[in-house]
Amino acid sequence: MHHFEARRGELHCEAVPLRRIAETVGTPAYVYSHATLSHHYRVFDEAFSGMPHLICYSMKANSNGSVIRTFTNLGSGVDIVSAGELSRALAAGAPPSKIVYSGVGKHIWEIEEALRCGILMFNVESREELETIDSVAGRMRKRAPISIRVNPDVDPKTHPYISTGLKKNKFGIHIGQAMRDYEWAARRKNIEVVGVDCHIGSQLTEISPFVDAAERVRLLVEKLLRKGMPIRLVDIGGGLGITYNDELPPHPKQYADAVVRAFSGLAVTLVLEPGRVLVGNAGILLTRVLYTKDAPATAGKGKKRFLIVDAAMNDLARPSLYGSYHAVVPVGRAPEKRALTDVVGPVCESGDFLAKDRRLPLYRSGDLLAVMSAGAYGFSMSSNYNSRPRAAEVMISGRRFEVVREREGPRDLSKGERTATFLLGRGKKRGRIL
Ligand SMILES: *Cc1c(COP(=O)(O)O)cnc(C)c1O
Repeated sequence: MHHFEARRGELHCEAVPLRRIAETVGTPAYVYSHATLSHHYRVFDEAFSGMPHLICYSMKANSNGSVIRTFTNLGSGVDIVSAGELSRALAAGAPPSKIVYSGVGKHIWEIEEALRCGILMFNVESREELETIDSVAGRMRKRAPISIRVNPDVDPKTHPYISTGLKKNKFGIHIGQAMRDYEWAARRKNIEVVGVDCHIGSQLTEISPFVDAAERVRLLVEKLLRKGMPIRLVDIGGGLGITYNDELPPHPKQYADAVVRAFSGLAVTLVLEPGRVLVGNAGILLTRVLYTKDAPATAGKGKKRFLIVDAAMNDLARPSLYGSYHAVVPVGRAPEKRALTDVVGPVCESGDFLAKDRRLPLYRSGDLLAVMSAGAYGFSMSSNYNSRPRAAEVMISGRRFEVVREREGPRDLSKGERTATFLLGRGKKRGRIL
């Protein structure tokens, strides 16, 4: 479900014509629908009403402060993966008591910051991390609440780059070895064992991998409880998929029912870390066609048309990175005739495409297009490659629109950069001699 709809031949986000946004803030621009974000949160939250639960929005999917605040205003917590995310989550109104900290490589200073502000728990991914947290907490005279991220070794049947719950992945501690580390952790003065965590991957379109993982996690939780460990939080991560093209992911209700069933009768609070499912279809990337050109026919493929648009792989990396599909739809009325088309950006890489081999209308230069389902892992994965300023981000609510992140300018591109004094050939040379 989302609030991007054509009305009288013009694509709108809620009550605002996207053309207006292109004219006012320029292109490329990310546009988010506040109503869609809120709706997705509420549906997800209500789906879990059968059990005590805490939703911790996985902010790496979209780290814009207004997106995060949309959720924190509705009672959400936040799942973070760095101290940078911690500070942005706090700035967006997340209470520390609702922040969980995941990730395989937490730096000492990051652990210190998280301990200082008193987060809900660390999801720990290795024995060495556990040892580090114990000693950092000891130095700070604190007790660090932890869960171990277990790797349940289930195949999420998603893209290999976004599957995380297999033995061969770098994530978590194998579920068969976790007991040893729990027993070690339980004996440390500066560690408080509070939960069990797992996250098996992203863009899952089936229930069964979640159920398999949940059943394995439940067995571990029961074992830990029998050993007297006070497990009160069971975090089953994120990963529920969305429809980009023709996928039919389970509804949040189906997903929630399966998860709640797997943990029924346990006196624990479920922690959920949804990212993509909350934000993916709530955002689009608005772009304008700069040029068109027709390439000659190649063997077996026929002619191909290129639409060169002003958004590129630096703005939306998913197609280049994972070969992901994003629907490309017209903002205004589209020509009837179609042709085999690649939608490509200005970046100097053949891998720079937003859509490949699509039968699209014969758009012309100046036309506006919406790259759909770009709310998750869109802006948050964007870069300045080719010295392209990052796009503006806009949030719509009803008839209102607001720029929630300014388009970058030339100064942002060289922020923090200095010319080495020895290149300037005048005055006193600086630089350290080692
Ligand atoms: C990325 C991530 C999530 C969110 O995944 P989605 O597929 O966006 O729901 C949740 N938990 C952890 C630990 C993650 O790394």
